[in-house]
Amino acid sequence: MDCFSYRGAELYAEDTPVEAIVERFGTPCYIYSRKALETALAEYQSALAGCDHLVCYAVKANSNLAVLDILARQGAGFDIVSRGELERVIAAGGDPAKVVFSGVGKRPEEMAFALEQDIACFNVESAAELEVLAAVAAEMGKVAPVSVRVNPDVDAKTHPYISTGLKENKFGVTVEEARQVYRRAAQLDSIAVVGIDCHIGSQLTEISPFIDALRRLLALVDELAGDGIELRHLDLGGGLGVRYADETPPAVADYIAAIRRELGERQVKLVFEPGRSIAANAGLLVTRVEYLKPTPAHNFALVDAAMNDLLRPSLYQAWMDIQPVRHRDGSEDASWDVVGPVCETGDFLGKARQLRLEAGDLLAVSGAGAYGFTMSSNYNSRPRAPEIIVDGASIHCARERETIADLMRGEHRLPD
Ligand SMILES: *Cc1c(COP(=O)(O)O)cnc(C)c1O
Repeated sequence: MDCFSYRGAELYAEDTPVEAIVERFGTPCYIYSRKALETALAEYQSALAGCDHLVCYAVKANSNLAVLDILARQGAGFDIVSRGELERVIAAGGDPAKVVFSGVGKRPEEMAFALEQDIACFNVESAAELEVLAAVAAEMGKVAPVSVRVNPDVDAKTHPYISTGLKENKFGVTVEEARQVYRRAAQLDSIAVVGIDCHIGSQLTEISPFIDALRRLLALVDELAGDGIELRHLDLGGGLGVRYADETPPAVADYIAAIRRELGERQVKLVFEPGRSIAANAGLLVTRVEYLKPTPAHNFALVDAAMNDLLRPSLYQAWMDIQPVRHRDGSEDASWDVVGPVCETGDFLGKARQLRLEAGDLLAVSGAGAYGFTMSSNYNSRPRAPEIIVDGASIHCARERETIADLMRGEHRLPD
């Protein structure tokens, strides 16, 4: 479902003209659709109906409090990778009992905080981490629920920076090592083994790598059962891709159905950690064209959003669609490189885009709801953009634009 669409020449977010939002909040500006977020989550939930499950939205994709609030109200759990993300979930009204804690470098202080909050599960990523977690829990008189993140060594066939399930990646432990880690975990009084997990990468556009990973996990689950270690849940991570350009990722329903088919009659609680497939297409980044700069080699459209606002094109050579907020008639399209003002040649939002542009025009970058704002920075001392949630015809400011004073907060000149 597309919550961003044209009415005549004009782009709308749900029932709100994008221009009306820009009038109030300026550019660059992130706009999210409440309905798109809810619909994306509901697709997972309905595909999992009739089966014990928990959908843990991956907070790192978009951690705005209002976004988390919207998803929490619809019953989502959360996948976190830091204490900060857990504090956000709590501040947004999320339930810690539905939180799983991933990440290769959890610190003892983060573990202690998560134990205090009684989260659902620690997704342990190494033998060393298990020992630290056991010690922290013992010290607190707690029992830490754990799952071991297995690296199933499957090729997710995605960009190398977002592929996480190959043996050369830093994530999880090998299937062979996992068995040892589980045996050790079963001996520790302050650890309760509750599940198994994997997350093989992001922006996957095929089902087969997920099924390969699942088979490897299930073989391990059976071996562990033989060792007397029973697992209650199976967490298959996130990673389902979305359409940015001409990709054809499987529908959520087909992806879940394939997994349920593979599981057959097994009685196990299913956990998923989707991020991108919930949030990406629920967001736009809107930017204004400041200058047109035709040169012999390229036509540059200099816009007021940059790699600090939206890093994906620069970091992953990600292609994200760029469309005008108001279609112009008349003049011919030309090919434009849409670039920001940051002092890096890698600072671009899109290259060779066929657009009909004049200075002052507004452009909307699609698919910006996930890994957009959360990866933004203050590079070049640029305040971060506001985040606006549209709900039908109403507009909610979910995060104000940063001020220059915000940027300097906590900095101190030398004493005289
Ligand atoms: C990033 C991440 C996710 C979410 O991945 P998406 O591709 O956004 O669905 C889920 N689980 C873990 C452990 C992650 O690191």
